[in-house]
Amino acid sequence: MRLGRLLLLILLVAAGSAVAALLLAPPSRTPVAYTAFLGQVQIDNMAEVSASGDTIQGRFKQAVDGVSRFTTERPPFADDNIFAMLQSNGVPVNASPVEHPAPWWLLGLIPAVPALALIIWLSRRRPTFADVGGVDLSPLADVVDYLRSPRRYRRLGAMIPYGILVVGPPGTGRTLLAHALAGEARVPLLRRPRRWLGPAVVLLDDPALLPKGRPGNQVLMAVASAEPEAAGRFARRITLDPPDLAARREILAVHTRRVPLAADVDLDALAAATGGLVGAGLRDLVNEAALRAARRGAGRVAAADFPATG
Ligand code: ADP
Repeated sequence: MRLGRLLLLILLVAAGSAVAALLLAPPSRTPVAYTAFLGQVQIDNMAEVSASGDTIQGRFKQAVDGVSRFTTERPPFADDNIFAMLQSNGVPVNASPVEHPAPWWLLGLIPAVPALALIIWLSRRRPTFADVGGVDLSPLADVVDYLRSPRRYRRLGAMIPYGILVVGPPGTGRTLLAHALAGEARVPLLRRPRRWLGPAVVLLDDPALLPKGRPGNQVLMAVASAEPEAAGRFARRITLDPPDLAARREILAVHTRRVPLAADVDLDALAAATGGLVGAGLRDLVNEAALRAARRGAGRVAAADFPATG
């Protein structure tokens, strides 16, 4: 998620919290003088009274100067007998506990919790095309554009191919491609078509599950190791081969992007030495090197940390 959108969301949460705090906070009580309170007890104007320690709160039967809900403090030197007076007037005492209004920021946090959870969920890092190395992604460019603004296409009656079949050996990034397509288009990745949802990428468990009709704005993808029987029903096919030298170099670049490398690490040499490895294997190779460097307490991953290959 871009920083601007994140800031906007935080602002909205803050504004929402403030409004909620105002709405949720109990109506405030007006402090009145103890003598004024006593006067109202004497003229039998008490609807209810609760007390805790020296704090007395309650409601007048008839508002006094516009005040109905009051709070007051009983001075230590008071020598009245309020309880007897209230009792003889039949006023319910301690009908509800004395209120200690929660601080506004605590109340404000209540609606902020789901909002924050939503923000975190939305900003989870999802793979995009930048995380796929050595694959020609141009056949998916129009699909991304369609998923981002389907109305522009539908207005013209243009239909994007909704069935995409990715064929290749395991570990070549077939599943990654589905996640990256959804991430690049900023739409959810589902496991089943859902009519009521907006644009999405659906990763089918089995190519045979491709439905006949078009499921709304959703693009369906299936992966297979070999040409499946249902292949003919897919409008577009992407073949992922085991990566060649240049592709391995790109995949290594993707997976070392956030890894601090020592000067002696030569990705070209590494790519040349890893013939036969697919994307998943290259990712594991980089991870093993990072683990080894961490174990020896190094701040950078050196060439010697990479397991011998080939
Ligand atoms: P498949 O579905 O083809 O068996 P995956 O997509 O599950 O393989 O790949 C496993 C992991 O290997 C991916 O999550 C990614 O980290 C890495 N990987 C595979 N292919 C690539 C690639 N072309 N570029 C970058 N990483 C890759």
